[in-house]
Amino acid sequence: ELGEPDAGVRAAVDRATEALLAAEAELTRLDAEVGDGDLGQALARGARAWQAEPVDGSAAAILRTLSAIARREIGGTSGPLYAAGLLRAGEALAEGAGWPDAFSAGVDGVIELGGAQVGDRTMVDALVPAAEASRRGLDAAIEAARTGAAGTAEQTARRGRSSYLGERVHGHPDPGAVAVVIWLEALRG
Ligand code: ADP
Ligand code: MG
Ligand code: MG
Repeated sequence: ELGEPDAGVRAAVDRATEALLAAEAELTRLDAEVGDGDLGQALARGARAWQAEPVDGSAAAILRTLSAIARREIGGTSGPLYAAGLLRAGEALAEGAGWPDAFSAGVDGVIELGGAQVGDRTMVDALVPAAEASRRGLDAAIEAARTGAAGTAEQTARRGRSSYLGERVHGHPDPGAVAVVIWLEALRG
């Protein structure tokens, strides 16, 4: 139903979860500056849950598992958004989509659930350009995510906790957008 086992995807998710664990303190610090300081711990909880029970399966099955982990372990604002995005991306893969289309479908899921658009200073500012650029490959996607995440430091938030802080967030990047760069870079290996 969900296709052949994909050891490459499993290894890539292993690297992404390692990177999120390594970035726990940095993400905590960034979220403490412009939010409530729980993003590092939340993503680390999800990463540890994957490492405790990694899945050997197709890419679609792996994304479905990650979606369940995100829903169960991450919580807050990010958990449901990642859960929705990963579920959509997995569904797209199961229907035969390639990675760029699956990535775009996942990002559409995040946007539909969270209601944030590009420019609202959220993870969407890294995800949307990365998904578009992924048609030119992972290197291009990473570069686009970096540019998008860096740009959030100049933006005023219209979604999430940072929106309570107005212009006080200026000079600090959005932590959710930085997290996207971290796991995306790790996928490349
Ligand atoms: P909180 O602790 O405020 O519940 P998290 O720490 O889990 O949230 O995640 C914070 C990140 O979530 C932000 O840095 C931002 O990137 C992202 N975010 C917040 N609101 C939205 C939204 N409506 N759509 C997409 N991403 C969002
Ligand atoms: Mg938070
Ligand atoms: Mg929180």
